[in-house]
Amino acid sequence: MDILNQKVTLLSKIPLTPRVLWLRFQLSEPLLFQAGQFIKLEWDINGQHVARNYSIASPPYQGMTSFSLVATLLANGVASTQFQFAQPGWQTSLKGPYGRLLLPKAVECPSQLILVATGTGIAPFYAMLPDLEEYLKCGCHVDLFFGVRNSEELFFFYPFKVLAEQYSHFNFTVCFSRQQTTESACLHSGYVQQYLVNTDVHSNALVMLCGHPDMVDGCFTLFTKDKGLKASQIKREKYILNH
Ligand SMILES: Cc1cc2nc3c(=O)[nH]c(=O)nc-3n(C[C@H](O)[C@H](O)[C@H](O)COP(=O)(O)OP(=O)(O)OC[C@H]3O[C@@H](n4cnc5c(N)ncnc54)[C@H](O)[C@@H]3O)c2cc1C
Repeated sequence: MDILNQKVTLLSKIPLTPRVLWLRFQLSEPLLFQAGQFIKLEWDINGQHVARNYSIASPPYQGMTSFSLVATLLANGVASTQFQFAQPGWQTSLKGPYGRLLLPKAVECPSQLILVATGTGIAPFYAMLPDLEEYLKCGCHVDLFFGVRNSEELFFFYPFKVLAEQYSHFNFTVCFSRQQTTESACLHSGYVQQYLVNTDVHSNALVMLCGHPDMVDGCFTLFTKDKGLKASQIKREKYILNH
């Protein structure tokens, strides 16, 4: 897939939670990408060149004219501050797409797909929703574990919940790391790793990990050491900060 460089224009900005913004950008050329990939946004501010990576949170079929991302607002973060105050019409440069967090075609799907995300690390899996439905139709068992701090920070919940209600072989588990919750079918308290320990893992499972670097490293160790998977069965995208 070609790496393109183009100008993009902010179309809209919606707060999904107090700390997460949904940003939609107008493309000047079609962006050909696969669900799971990320782009780099670049701009200059106060004599400083800023370059930050963001997963694409919209499915590829929308990539002819626009794309979306979700950004966590970090205190005093350069991009976070820019996004917080940016208005529709703000222009920036985009490079991409990049990344290998890609699903095999549905016909080649493994018997089990395990997706683990923390925070905005859910973005690539949200972009994969149409593909996940294809996987489920092919009989693939899909487990999604989504870690956020508390219910106030939960977003993109309903599209996955609806899918879980439609397909009994789609297990959706939300883990609140900083909130006790009344345990329900999908809402739990604790870290995602705690729930993975008790998950049955098929020997040919494909695992995708996205988000906080500590979660990605912890889960990688768990799947390779305790669950006996090969490193090649695990795809990772770590949201490493730029300093
Ligand atoms: C492949 C990839 C995909 C990503 N996708 C996403 C995504 O979809 N959504 C998302 O929200 N993020 C994503 N990220 C992270 C993103 O690229 C940015 O790192 C993030 O948005 C923070 O950028 P910032 O400019 O706001 O913060 P920065 O200015 O980089 O600062 C980050 C934090 O560190 C603090 N800080 C800055 N400098 C220092 C210092 N010297 N010492 C101590 N603390 C310091 C700041 O106050 C702030 O809280 C991704 C990262 C990668 C690598």
